Amino acid sequence: MTVPEADWAEALRLLASYDEVALACHVGPDGDALGSMLALGLALRAQGRTVRASWGSEPFEVPAAYASLPGLELLVPADQIPAAPGLLVTFDTGSTDRLGSLADRVAAAQDVLVIDHHVTNTRFGTVNLIDADAAATAVVVVELLDRMGLEVTAEVAAPVYTGLVTDTGSFKYASTTPEVHELAARLLETGIRHDVISREIWDTAPFAYVQLLGTVCSRAVLEPADVGGLGLVWTRVDKDDLDRSGLALSDVEGVIDVLRTSREAEVAVVLKTDPADGLLKVSTRSKGAVDVGAVCVALGGGGHRFAAGFTSYDDVETTLDRLRAALATAPHLPA
Ligand code: 5GP
Ligand code: MN
Repeated sequence: MTVPEADWAEALRLLASYDEVALACHVGPDGDALGSMLALGLALRAQGRTVRASWGSEPFEVPAAYASLPGLELLVPADQIPAAPGLLVTFDTGSTDRLGSLADRVAAAQDVLVIDHHVTNTRFGTVNLIDADAAATAVVVVELLDRMGLEVTAEVAAPVYTGLVTDTGSFKYASTTPEVHELAARLLETGIRHDVISREIWDTAPFAYVQLLGTVCSRAVLEPADVGGLGLVWTRVDKDDLDRSGLALSDVEGVIDVLRTSREAEVAVVLKTDPADGLLKVSTRSKGAVDVGAVCVALGGGGHRFAAGFTSYDDVETTLDRLRAALATAPHLPA
């Protein structure tokens, strides 16, 4: 699903029309959301534009894994994003609710450019650059920069690489195409420290996280009869767990990557209590047989076929019951 030429042309026209640009990515930003936003932000700033970038959730704190990225000086708290921006560009954001407190800027902005790769994207922009086949939003950003004639410098390459490794699981997921490796090669040729970027993302955590991993994995439950007999494994991360360990929600994103290694379960689920609002943030992963994206859309969320999530206003048991029911009839994907 490539982006129509007319949409590229419109995007270039929009980006040429505004000296000040507001950038926003999804709440609780991951490497692709933040990386693709910083990459375009840095390239626009190098052109002399005024760039403000943010996200609409608390805490407004860059997750430790991304704290060494170039371009963090472009970030401002959400309330410093103009109430009615001329041009608003959104990144990796499938629907306006995923902008949190910045959602109101969509209606207030003169123009909205949506840059994304979620198949579930609601196309809320005046112009939409949505490539559901792209491995990461960062891939779409590079194509945009190329079309704008802007150089992908080492400074720009580092956040792009961050988005690429995050969303391909270090080049492991099915989304890893020859083009992904070609882009990675191009980024490495700029001289970025890909080893340092990857170590910060995948191989560095506070000791308290290692201990928390033990706690939440030892309480994991395997339900072989669920998902129509394909198996479900799930666990919780409670507010208490975070309080005791001094960790933020963004620090425990990797729990699901350990949980989903369980051979006996097609689907893995982590239910995390967000200390900011007390709501359950539910992460789901499938091994490839079941479309968890469709399941999460049905439950009010979104995502991709094999990695998706939703926010639940119910307690853990009720949320699990709704999820089990949806998973029992989930669309099966071709092998
Ligand atoms: P994660 O489980 O890593 O938080 O998210 C996996 C995927 O699901 C990501 O693509 C993310 O954008 C999407 N996702 C997670 N939570 C939500 C949600 O509450 N709403 C929507 N629309 N998408 C979500
Ligand atoms: Mn993404």
